[in-house]
Amino acid sequence: MLFKNYINGQWVDSSTGKRFKSFNPADTSDELGEFPASAARDVEQAVEAADRAFTEWSRVPAPKRGELLFAAAERLKQRKEETAQIMTREMGKVLKEARGDVQEGIDMTYYIAAEGRRLLGYTTPSELPNKHCLAVRRPIGRIAAITPWNFPIAIPTWKIMPALIAGNTVVWKPATDTARCAYELTKIFDEVGLPRGVLNLVFGGGSDVGAPLAKHPKVDMISFTGSSDTGREIYQYGAAKLAQVHLELGGKNPIIVLEDGDLDLAVEGIIWSAFGTTGQRCTACSRLIIEEGVYEKLLEKLVERTRKLRLGNGLDPNTDVGPVVNRSSQERIARYVEIGVKEGAKLLCGGRIAKDGLLAKGFFFEPTIFADVTPETAIFQEEIFGPVLSVSKAKDYDDAIRLANHTSFGLSSSIYTQEINKAHRAMDDLEAGITYINSGTIGAEVHLPFGGVKDTGNGGREAGLAAIEEYTEWKTIYIDFSQRLQKAQGID
Ligand code: NAD
Repeated sequence: MLFKNYINGQWVDSSTGKRFKSFNPADTSDELGEFPASAARDVEQAVEAADRAFTEWSRVPAPKRGELLFAAAERLKQRKEETAQIMTREMGKVLKEARGDVQEGIDMTYYIAAEGRRLLGYTTPSELPNKHCLAVRRPIGRIAAITPWNFPIAIPTWKIMPALIAGNTVVWKPATDTARCAYELTKIFDEVGLPRGVLNLVFGGGSDVGAPLAKHPKVDMISFTGSSDTGREIYQYGAAKLAQVHLELGGKNPIIVLEDGDLDLAVEGIIWSAFGTTGQRCTACSRLIIEEGVYEKLLEKLVERTRKLRLGNGLDPNTDVGPVVNRSSQERIARYVEIGVKEGAKLLCGGRIAKDGLLAKGFFFEPTIFADVTPETAIFQEEIFGPVLSVSKAKDYDDAIRLANHTSFGLSSSIYTQEINKAHRAMDDLEAGITYINSGTIGAEVHLPFGGVKDTGNGGREAGLAAIEEYTEWKTIYIDFSQRLQKAQGID
Protein backbone atom coordinates (compact mmCIF):
# COMPACT_ATOMS: atom_id res chain seq x y z
CA MET A 1 0.00 0.00 0.00
CA LEU A 2 1.15 3.48 -0.87
CA PHE A 3 0.85 6.29 1.68
CA LYS A 4 1.29 10.05 1.32
CA ASN A 5 2.24 13.11 3.32
CA TYR A 6 -0.60 15.15 4.84
CA ILE A 7 -0.12 18.82 4.07
CA ASN A 8 -2.75 21.55 4.22
CA GLY A 9 -5.51 18.98 4.65
CA GLN A 10 -4.52 16.98 1.53
CA TRP A 11 -2.76 13.65 1.12
CA VAL A 12 0.11 14.50 -1.23
CA ASP A 13 3.21 12.86 -2.73
CA SER A 14 6.64 14.11 -1.78
CA SER A 15 8.68 16.38 -4.02
CA THR A 16 11.39 13.71 -4.37
CA GLY A 17 9.19 10.92 -5.75
CA LYS A 18 11.32 8.58 -3.62
CA ARG A 19 9.84 6.14 -1.12
CA PHE A 20 10.82 3.94 1.81
CA LYS A 21 9.13 0.84 3.17
CA SER A 22 8.07 -0.06 6.67
CA PHE A 23 8.49 -3.72 7.71
CA ASN A 24 7.48 -5.98 10.54
CA PRO A 25 10.63 -6.56 12.65
CA ALA A 26 9.26 -9.96 13.70
CA ASP A 27 8.89 -11.08 10.08
CA THR A 28 10.40 -8.88 7.41
CA SER A 29 8.27 -10.44 4.68
CA ASP A 30 5.32 -8.57 6.23
CA GLU A 31 5.25 -5.05 4.79
CA LEU A 32 3.26 -2.21 6.38
CA GLY A 33 3.40 0.12 3.39
CA GLU A 34 5.46 2.47 1.25
CA PHE A 35 5.90 6.05 2.40
CA PRO A 36 7.28 9.20 0.81
CA ALA A 37 10.98 9.86 1.49
CA SER A 38 10.43 13.59 1.70
CA ALA A 39 12.88 16.48 1.63
CA ALA A 40 13.25 20.15 2.57
CA ARG A 41 10.76 21.28 -0.11
CA ASP A 42 8.00 19.20 1.48
CA VAL A 43 8.90 20.61 4.88
CA GLU A 44 8.64 24.08 3.39
CA GLN A 45 5.11 23.40 2.16
CA ALA A 46 4.06 21.91 5.47
CA VAL A 47 5.41 24.81 7.50
CA GLU A 48 3.77 27.30 5.12
CA ALA A 49 0.45 25.47 5.60
CA ALA A 50 0.87 25.54 9.38
CA ASP A 51 1.71 29.23 9.18
CA ARG A 52 -1.35 30.09 7.10
CA ALA A 53 -3.65 28.11 9.42
CA PHE A 54 -2.28 29.59 12.64
CA THR A 55 -4.20 32.83 13.07
CA GLU A 56 -7.61 31.34 12.43
CA TRP A 57 -6.97 28.26 14.57
CA SER A 58 -5.64 30.31 17.46
CA ARG A 59 -8.93 32.28 17.41
CA VAL A 60 -11.14 29.18 17.62
CA PRO A 61 -12.40 29.13 21.23
CA ALA A 62 -10.37 26.57 23.17
CA PRO A 63 -13.48 24.57 24.26
CA LYS A 64 -14.33 24.17 20.55
CA ARG A 65 -10.81 22.96 19.83
CA GLY A 66 -11.37 20.56 22.71
CA GLU A 67 -14.47 19.15 20.98
CA LEU A 68 -12.36 18.16 17.97
CA LEU A 69 -9.84 16.47 20.23
CA PHE A 70 -12.66 14.69 22.04
CA ALA A 71 -13.97 13.39 18.70
CA ALA A 72 -10.45 12.19 17.84
CA ALA A 73 -10.23 10.38 21.20
CA GLU A 74 -13.55 8.66 20.47
CA ARG A 75 -12.30 7.41 17.10
CA LEU A 76 -9.00 6.23 18.46
CA LYS A 77 -10.92 4.34 21.15
CA GLN A 78 -13.09 2.68 18.52
CA ARG A 79 -9.96 1.69 16.59
CA LYS A 80 -7.88 0.66 19.57
CA GLU A 81 -7.57 -2.98 18.59
CA GLU A 82 -6.77 -2.48 14.91
CA THR A 83 -4.28 0.30 15.71
CA ALA A 84 -2.60 -1.91 18.33
CA GLN A 85 -2.29 -4.75 15.81
CA ILE A 86 -0.70 -2.42 13.27
CA MET A 87 1.70 -1.20 15.94
CA THR A 88 2.75 -4.71 16.92
CA ARG A 89 3.34 -5.53 13.28
CA GLU A 90 5.24 -2.34 12.65
CA MET A 91 7.60 -2.06 15.62
CA GLY A 92 7.31 -5.41 17.36
CA LYS A 93 6.07 -4.76 20.90
CA VAL A 94 3.77 -7.50 22.14
CA LEU A 95 0.07 -6.90 21.53
CA LYS A 96 -0.92 -6.26 25.14
CA GLU A 97 1.73 -3.53 25.33
CA ALA A 98 0.65 -2.09 21.99
CA ARG A 99 -2.88 -1.87 23.37
CA GLY A 100 -1.42 -0.01 26.34
CA ASP A 101 0.38 2.40 23.99
CA VAL A 102 -2.84 3.19 22.12
CA GLN A 103 -4.72 3.48 25.42
CA GLU A 104 -2.18 6.03 26.60
CA GLY A 105 -2.89 8.01 23.42
CA ILE A 106 -6.64 7.79 24.07
CA ASP A 107 -6.19 8.87 27.70
CA MET A 108 -3.98 11.77 26.71
CA THR A 109 -6.41 12.96 24.05
CA TYR A 110 -9.43 12.90 26.39
CA TYR A 111 -7.42 14.51 29.17
CA ILE A 112 -6.17 17.35 26.99
CA ALA A 113 -9.55 17.81 25.26
CA ALA A 114 -10.97 18.79 28.66
CA GLU A 115 -8.15 21.30 29.14
CA GLY A 116 -9.91 23.37 26.48
CA ARG A 117 -12.31 24.43 29.24
CA ARG A 118 -9.47 25.34 31.59
CA LEU A 119 -6.22 26.64 30.07
CA LEU A 120 -6.06 28.52 33.31
CA GLY A 121 -4.46 31.90 33.69
CA TYR A 122 -4.77 34.11 36.76
CA THR A 123 -5.67 37.55 38.03
CA THR A 124 -3.77 39.33 40.75
CA PRO A 125 -4.10 42.73 42.46
CA SER A 126 -2.26 45.68 41.05
CA GLU A 127 0.05 47.78 43.20
CA LEU A 128 -1.97 50.79 41.96
CA PRO A 129 -5.63 51.69 42.49
CA ASN A 130 -8.20 51.33 39.72
CA LYS A 131 -6.11 48.88 37.78
CA HIS A 132 -6.64 45.19 36.98
CA CYS A 133 -3.89 42.70 36.18
CA LEU A 134 -4.25 39.37 34.50
CA ALA A 135 -2.02 36.72 33.00
CA VAL A 136 -3.40 34.62 30.14
CA ARG A 137 -2.01 31.79 28.07
CA ARG A 138 -1.32 32.32 24.37
CA PRO A 139 -0.25 29.76 21.78
CA ILE A 140 3.41 29.77 20.79
CA GLY A 141 2.86 29.45 17.03
CA ARG A 142 4.06 26.79 14.61
CA ILE A 143 5.37 23.70 16.37
CA ALA A 144 7.62 20.98 14.99
CA ALA A 145 6.94 17.60 16.61
CA ILE A 146 9.73 15.08 15.99
CA THR A 147 9.06 11.67 17.47
CA PRO A 148 10.74 8.26 17.95
CA TRP A 149 9.42 4.81 17.09
CA ASN A 150 9.17 3.21 20.52
CA PHE A 151 5.79 4.69 21.51
CA PRO A 152 4.38 5.43 18.07
CA ILE A 153 0.91 6.55 19.22
CA ALA A 154 1.39 7.65 22.84
CA ILE A 155 4.38 9.98 22.38
CA PRO A 156 2.92 11.86 19.40
CA THR A 157 -0.30 12.48 21.37
CA TRP A 158 1.77 13.91 24.23
CA LYS A 159 2.99 16.58 21.84
CA ILE A 160 0.22 17.10 19.30
CA MET A 161 -2.75 17.26 21.70
CA PRO A 162 -1.45 19.96 24.07
CA ALA A 163 -0.04 21.89 21.11
CA LEU A 164 -3.44 21.90 19.38
CA ILE A 165 -5.59 22.65 22.42
CA ALA A 166 -3.50 25.74 23.09
CA GLY A 167 -4.11 27.01 19.55
CA ASN A 168 -0.77 26.13 17.95
CA THR A 169 -0.41 24.51 14.54
CA VAL A 170 1.84 21.48 14.08
CA VAL A 171 4.16 19.86 11.56
CA TRP A 172 4.86 16.30 12.64
CA LYS A 173 7.83 14.21 11.54
CA PRO A 174 7.47 10.67 12.87
CA ALA A 175 10.22 8.02 12.92
CA THR A 176 10.48 6.11 9.64
CA ASP A 177 10.23 2.78 11.50
CA THR A 178 6.67 3.63 12.56
CA ALA A 179 5.36 5.60 9.59
CA ARG A 180 2.19 3.53 9.35
CA CYS A 181 1.16 4.28 12.94
CA ALA A 182 1.66 7.98 12.20
CA TYR A 183 -0.63 7.68 9.20
CA GLU A 184 -3.33 5.99 11.32
CA LEU A 185 -3.31 8.79 13.90
CA THR A 186 -3.28 11.59 11.31
CA LYS A 187 -6.14 9.97 9.40
CA ILE A 188 -8.31 10.35 12.49
CA PHE A 189 -7.76 14.11 12.54
CA ASP A 190 -8.62 14.29 8.88
CA GLU A 191 -11.86 12.40 9.54
CA VAL A 192 -12.99 14.53 12.48
CA GLY A 193 -12.59 17.69 10.41
CA LEU A 194 -9.56 19.42 11.86
CA PRO A 195 -9.21 22.61 9.75
CA ARG A 196 -6.64 22.27 7.01
CA GLY A 197 -3.06 23.14 7.80
CA VAL A 198 -3.54 22.78 11.55
CA LEU A 199 -1.79 19.40 11.63
CA ASN A 200 0.63 18.40 8.87
CA LEU A 201 2.51 15.14 8.55
CA VAL A 202 5.79 14.78 6.64
CA PHE A 203 7.41 11.35 6.33
CA GLY A 204 11.14 10.91 5.88
CA GLY A 205 14.53 10.63 7.52
CA GLY A 206 16.11 12.64 10.30
CA SER A 207 18.56 14.61 8.17
CA ASP A 208 16.25 14.97 5.14
CA VAL A 209 13.11 16.07 7.00
CA GLY A 210 13.79 16.40 10.75
CA ALA A 211 16.73 18.79 10.43
CA PRO A 212 15.18 21.21 7.88
CA LEU A 213 11.99 21.21 9.94
CA ALA A 214 13.80 22.01 13.18
CA LYS A 215 15.87 24.71 11.46
CA HIS A 216 12.97 26.33 9.64
CA PRO A 217 12.75 30.02 10.60
CA LYS A 218 8.96 29.93 10.89
CA VAL A 219 9.00 27.07 13.41
CA ASP A 220 8.62 28.72 16.82
CA MET A 221 9.07 25.63 18.96
CA ILE A 222 10.67 22.23 18.44
CA SER A 223 9.34 19.39 20.55
CA PHE A 224 11.64 16.42 20.26
CA THR A 225 11.74 12.95 21.79
CA GLY A 226 14.65 10.69 20.88
CA SER A 227 18.29 10.04 21.60
CA SER A 228 20.52 12.47 23.49
CA ASP A 229 22.87 12.85 20.50
CA THR A 230 20.07 13.99 18.19
CA GLY A 231 18.64 16.12 21.00
CA ARG A 232 21.91 18.03 21.35
CA GLU A 233 21.93 18.75 17.62
CA ILE A 234 18.33 19.94 17.67
CA TYR A 235 18.95 22.19 20.66
CA GLN A 236 21.54 24.04 18.57
CA TYR A 237 19.10 24.50 15.69
CA GLY A 238 16.69 26.05 18.16
CA ALA A 239 19.36 28.22 19.76
CA ALA A 240 20.38 29.65 16.38
CA LYS A 241 16.92 31.13 15.88
CA LEU A 242 15.99 31.64 19.57
CA ALA A 243 13.15 29.15 19.33
CA GLN A 244 11.82 27.16 22.27
CA VAL A 245 13.11 23.60 22.37
CA HIS A 246 11.54 20.78 24.34
CA LEU A 247 13.77 17.70 24.67
CA GLU A 248 12.87 14.25 26.03
CA LEU A 249 15.99 12.11 25.68
CA GLY A 250 17.66 8.90 26.77
CA GLY A 251 17.80 7.05 30.05
CA LYS A 252 19.86 4.50 32.00
CA ASN A 253 17.27 3.82 34.63
CA PRO A 254 18.20 2.03 37.87
CA ILE A 255 16.22 -0.22 40.18
CA ILE A 256 17.65 -0.55 43.67
CA VAL A 257 16.75 -3.59 45.75
CA LEU A 258 17.62 -3.33 49.43
CA GLU A 259 17.97 -6.28 51.80
CA ASP A 260 14.57 -5.58 53.34
CA GLY A 261 12.84 -5.41 49.94
CA ASP A 262 10.23 -7.95 48.86
CA LEU A 263 12.38 -9.99 46.48
CA ASP A 264 9.57 -11.77 44.64
CA LEU A 265 7.79 -8.50 44.02
CA ALA A 266 11.09 -7.00 42.86
CA VAL A 267 11.65 -9.84 40.37
CA GLU A 268 8.28 -9.11 38.77
CA GLY A 269 9.05 -5.39 38.51
CA ILE A 270 12.56 -5.96 37.17
CA ILE A 271 11.43 -8.39 34.46
CA TRP A 272 8.66 -6.04 33.34
CA SER A 273 10.91 -2.98 33.38
CA ALA A 274 14.01 -4.54 31.80
CA PHE A 275 12.46 -6.78 29.15
CA GLY A 276 9.03 -5.23 28.49
CA THR A 277 9.01 -3.63 25.01
CA THR A 278 12.23 -5.65 24.58
CA GLY A 279 14.05 -3.10 26.73
CA GLN A 280 13.27 -0.34 24.26
CA ARG A 281 11.45 2.07 26.56
CA CYS A 282 13.12 5.32 27.52
CA THR A 283 12.17 4.35 31.07
CA ALA A 284 13.36 0.73 30.75
CA CYS A 285 15.39 -0.55 33.67
CA SER A 286 18.90 -1.16 32.36
CA ARG A 287 20.75 -1.12 35.68
CA LEU A 288 19.93 -3.17 38.74
CA ILE A 289 21.67 -2.35 42.01
CA ILE A 290 21.32 -4.96 44.74
CA GLU A 291 22.39 -4.65 48.38
CA GLU A 292 25.02 -7.31 49.03
CA GLY A 293 23.06 -9.44 51.54
CA VAL A 294 20.51 -10.44 48.88
CA TYR A 295 22.69 -10.16 45.78
CA GLU A 296 23.11 -13.86 45.01
CA LYS A 297 19.58 -14.83 46.02
CA LEU A 298 17.91 -12.17 43.88
CA LEU A 299 20.13 -12.89 40.89
CA GLU A 300 19.27 -16.56 41.06
CA LYS A 301 15.53 -15.85 41.03
CA LEU A 302 15.94 -13.31 38.27
CA VAL A 303 17.97 -15.51 35.94
CA GLU A 304 15.53 -18.37 36.43
CA ARG A 305 12.60 -16.13 35.42
CA THR A 306 14.50 -14.55 32.53
CA ARG A 307 15.37 -17.93 31.00
CA LYS A 308 11.66 -18.75 30.85
CA LEU A 309 10.76 -15.68 28.79
CA ARG A 310 9.44 -16.68 25.37
CA LEU A 311 10.61 -14.74 22.36
CA GLY A 312 8.39 -14.44 19.33
CA ASN A 313 6.02 -12.45 17.20
CA GLY A 314 4.15 -9.98 19.42
CA LEU A 315 0.83 -10.98 17.86
CA ASP A 316 1.20 -14.45 19.40
CA PRO A 317 -0.40 -14.35 22.88
CA ASN A 318 2.28 -16.74 24.17
CA THR A 319 5.07 -14.28 23.41
CA ASP A 320 6.66 -12.45 26.33
CA VAL A 321 9.36 -10.58 24.42
CA GLY A 322 9.05 -9.34 20.84
CA PRO A 323 11.80 -8.40 18.38
CA VAL A 324 13.95 -5.29 18.50
CA VAL A 325 13.01 -2.61 16.04
CA ASN A 326 15.45 -3.24 13.18
CA ARG A 327 18.69 -4.88 12.12
CA SER A 328 20.98 -2.01 13.08
CA SER A 329 19.47 -2.02 16.56
CA GLN A 330 20.03 -5.77 16.83
CA GLU A 331 23.66 -5.33 15.76
CA ARG A 332 24.22 -2.46 18.19
CA ILE A 333 22.94 -4.59 21.08
CA ALA A 334 25.22 -7.47 20.05
CA ARG A 335 28.19 -5.06 20.03
CA TYR A 336 27.35 -3.91 23.56
CA VAL A 337 27.30 -7.52 24.74
CA GLU A 338 30.79 -8.00 23.30
CA ILE A 339 31.91 -4.83 25.05
CA GLY A 340 30.38 -6.04 28.33
CA VAL A 341 32.27 -9.31 28.14
CA LYS A 342 35.53 -7.50 27.34
CA GLU A 343 34.94 -5.14 30.24
CA GLY A 344 34.91 -8.17 32.55
CA ALA A 345 31.22 -8.33 33.46
CA LYS A 346 29.79 -11.80 34.10
CA LEU A 347 27.28 -12.88 31.43
CA LEU A 348 24.60 -14.83 33.34
CA CYS A 349 22.10 -15.45 30.55
CA GLY A 350 21.24 -14.46 26.99
CA GLY A 351 23.77 -12.43 25.06
CA ARG A 352 23.03 -13.65 21.56
CA ILE A 353 21.02 -12.78 18.50
CA ALA A 354 18.12 -15.27 18.58
CA LYS A 355 17.49 -16.96 15.25
CA ASP A 356 16.04 -20.39 15.94
CA GLY A 357 13.10 -21.38 13.73
CA LEU A 358 10.68 -18.52 13.05
CA LEU A 359 12.90 -16.08 14.93
CA ALA A 360 15.22 -16.06 11.90
CA LYS A 361 12.55 -14.10 10.05
CA GLY A 362 13.07 -11.04 12.21
CA PHE A 363 15.39 -9.18 14.58
CA PHE A 364 15.35 -10.94 17.92
CA PHE A 365 17.79 -10.73 20.80
CA GLU A 366 17.92 -12.95 23.87
CA PRO A 367 17.05 -11.27 27.18
CA THR A 368 20.49 -10.73 28.69
CA ILE A 369 21.79 -10.25 32.22
CA PHE A 370 25.30 -9.16 33.15
CA ALA A 371 26.40 -9.40 36.79
CA ASP A 372 29.28 -7.76 38.68
CA VAL A 373 29.10 -4.68 36.49
CA THR A 374 31.34 -1.86 37.67
CA PRO A 375 30.34 1.80 37.40
CA GLU A 376 32.93 3.08 34.93
CA THR A 377 32.05 0.57 32.19
CA ALA A 378 30.15 1.30 28.99
CA ILE A 379 27.37 -1.15 29.82
CA PHE A 380 26.79 0.70 33.11
CA GLN A 381 26.93 4.18 31.56
CA GLU A 382 25.55 4.04 28.01
CA GLU A 383 21.99 3.58 26.83
CA ILE A 384 21.83 0.22 24.99
CA PHE A 385 18.11 0.36 24.22
CA GLY A 386 17.58 -3.38 24.11
CA PRO A 387 16.96 -6.33 26.45
CA VAL A 388 20.23 -6.03 28.38
CA LEU A 389 20.33 -5.62 32.16
CA SER A 390 23.52 -4.70 34.02
CA VAL A 391 23.62 -5.74 37.67
CA SER A 392 25.90 -4.24 40.31
CA LYS A 393 26.41 -4.92 44.01
CA ALA A 394 26.01 -2.20 46.66
CA LYS A 395 27.39 -2.27 50.22
CA ASP A 396 24.44 -0.41 51.75
CA TYR A 397 21.73 2.20 51.05
CA ASP A 398 24.21 5.07 50.56
CA ASP A 399 26.35 3.03 48.19
CA ALA A 400 23.25 2.01 46.22
CA ILE A 401 22.18 5.64 45.81
CA ARG A 402 25.71 6.63 44.79
CA LEU A 403 25.72 3.94 42.09
CA ALA A 404 22.21 4.80 40.91
CA ASN A 405 23.16 8.45 40.46
CA HIS A 406 26.50 7.67 38.81
CA THR A 407 25.24 8.28 35.28
CA SER A 408 24.73 11.24 33.00
CA PHE A 409 21.03 10.39 32.57
CA GLY A 410 18.14 11.02 34.94
CA LEU A 411 14.78 9.83 33.66
CA SER A 412 13.25 7.10 35.83
CA SER A 413 14.35 5.27 38.98
CA SER A 414 13.01 2.81 41.50
CA ILE A 415 13.69 1.36 44.91
CA TYR A 416 12.38 -1.78 46.60
CA THR A 417 12.39 -1.49 50.38
CA GLN A 418 9.95 -2.12 53.22
CA GLU A 419 11.60 0.50 55.34
CA ILE A 420 9.59 3.71 55.23
CA ASN A 421 12.50 5.97 56.17
CA LYS A 422 14.71 4.66 53.38
CA ALA A 423 11.85 4.91 50.89
CA HIS A 424 11.35 8.56 51.79
CA ARG A 425 15.07 9.30 51.70
CA ALA A 426 15.25 7.76 48.22
CA MET A 427 12.48 10.05 46.95
CA ASP A 428 14.87 12.92 47.62
CA ASP A 429 18.17 11.21 46.91
CA LEU A 430 17.54 9.64 43.50
CA GLU A 431 18.55 12.04 40.72
CA ALA A 432 15.70 11.41 38.28
CA GLY A 433 12.55 13.03 36.96
CA ILE A 434 10.51 10.00 38.08
CA THR A 435 10.90 7.74 41.13
CA TYR A 436 8.85 4.62 41.84
CA ILE A 437 8.69 3.03 45.28
CA ASN A 438 8.19 -0.76 45.30
CA SER A 439 7.40 -0.85 41.60
CA GLY A 440 9.58 -0.97 38.45
CA THR A 441 10.79 2.00 36.40
CA ILE A 442 7.86 2.08 33.97
CA GLY A 443 4.17 2.94 34.21
CA ALA A 444 3.66 6.65 33.53
CA GLU A 445 0.13 8.06 33.78
CA VAL A 446 -0.88 10.89 31.47
CA HIS A 447 -2.08 13.33 34.12
CA LEU A 448 1.30 13.56 35.80
CA PRO A 449 4.41 15.31 34.49
CA PHE A 450 6.86 13.14 32.57
CA GLY A 451 10.52 13.85 31.86
CA GLY A 452 14.00 13.71 33.26
CA VAL A 453 16.93 15.60 34.74
CA LYS A 454 20.59 15.75 33.67
CA ASP A 455 21.23 14.63 30.05
CA THR A 456 17.68 13.27 29.71
CA GLY A 457 16.40 16.70 28.75
CA ASN A 458 16.59 20.45 29.12
CA GLY A 459 14.21 20.93 32.01
CA GLY A 460 10.81 20.62 30.34
CA ARG A 461 8.14 18.06 31.11
CA GLU A 462 5.43 16.43 29.05
CA ALA A 463 1.92 15.37 30.13
CA GLY A 464 0.08 16.47 33.24
CA LEU A 465 -0.31 20.17 33.91
CA ALA A 466 3.20 20.61 32.57
CA ALA A 467 1.95 19.89 29.05
CA ILE A 468 -0.06 23.11 28.95
CA GLU A 469 2.88 25.01 30.38
CA GLU A 470 5.14 23.73 27.60
CA TYR A 471 2.90 24.64 24.68
CA THR A 472 1.73 28.10 25.79
CA GLU A 473 3.35 31.45 26.41
CA TRP A 474 2.24 33.87 29.08
CA LYS A 475 0.73 37.18 28.13
CA THR A 476 0.36 39.78 30.87
CA ILE A 477 -2.40 42.35 30.58
CA TYR A 478 -2.80 45.56 32.60
CA ILE A 479 -6.14 47.39 32.48
CA ASP A 480 -6.03 50.89 33.90
CA PHE A 481 -9.46 52.43 34.59
CA SER A 482 -8.27 55.37 36.72
CA GLN A 483 -8.46 57.73 33.74
CA ARG A 484 -5.10 59.28 34.59
CA LEU A 485 -1.48 58.31 33.99
CA GLN A 486 -0.47 56.04 36.86
CA LYS A 487 3.17 54.97 37.14
CA ALA A 488 4.31 51.72 38.76
CA GLN A 489 7.24 51.43 41.18
CA GLY A 490 6.11 54.56 43.02
CA ILE A 491 7.29 57.00 40.35
CA ASP A 492 5.53 60.28 40.98
P1 NAD B 1 16.56 9.15 17.29
O1 NAD B 1 17.18 10.31 18.03
O2 NAD B 1 17.42 8.38 16.39
O3 NAD B 1 15.32 9.65 16.40
C1 NAD B 1 14.21 10.33 16.95
C2 NAD B 1 13.55 11.15 15.84
O4 NAD B 1 14.46 12.16 15.42
C3 NAD B 1 13.22 10.34 14.59
O5 NAD B 1 12.01 10.81 14.04
C4 NAD B 1 14.40 10.65 13.68
O6 NAD B 1 14.12 10.49 12.32
C5 NAD B 1 14.64 12.11 14.02
N1 NAD B 1 16.00 12.58 13.73
C6 NAD B 1 17.14 11.85 13.66
N2 NAD B 1 18.18 12.67 13.36
C7 NAD B 1 17.70 13.93 13.27
C8 NAD B 1 18.28 15.21 13.00
N3 NAD B 1 19.57 15.35 12.79
N4 NAD B 1 17.48 16.29 12.99
C9 NAD B 1 16.16 16.17 13.25
N5 NAD B 1 15.54 14.99 13.47
C10 NAD B 1 16.30 13.88 13.50
O7 NAD B 1 15.88 8.22 18.40
P2 NAD B 1 15.11 6.84 18.19
O8 NAD B 1 16.09 5.76 17.91
O9 NAD B 1 13.97 7.02 17.25
O10 NAD B 1 14.47 6.63 19.64
C11 NAD B 1 15.15 6.05 20.68
C12 NAD B 1 15.66 7.11 21.65
O11 NAD B 1 14.57 7.89 22.09
C13 NAD B 1 16.27 6.53 22.91
O12 NAD B 1 17.43 7.26 23.21
C14 NAD B 1 15.20 6.74 23.96
O13 NAD B 1 15.67 6.80 25.28
C15 NAD B 1 14.62 8.02 23.51
N6 NAD B 1 13.28 8.22 24.06
C16 NAD B 1 13.10 9.13 25.07
C17 NAD B 1 11.84 9.30 25.63
C18 NAD B 1 11.61 10.30 26.73
O14 NAD B 1 10.48 10.68 26.94
N7 NAD B 1 12.64 10.75 27.45
C19 NAD B 1 10.77 8.56 25.17
C20 NAD B 1 10.98 7.63 24.14
C21 NAD B 1 12.24 7.48 23.58
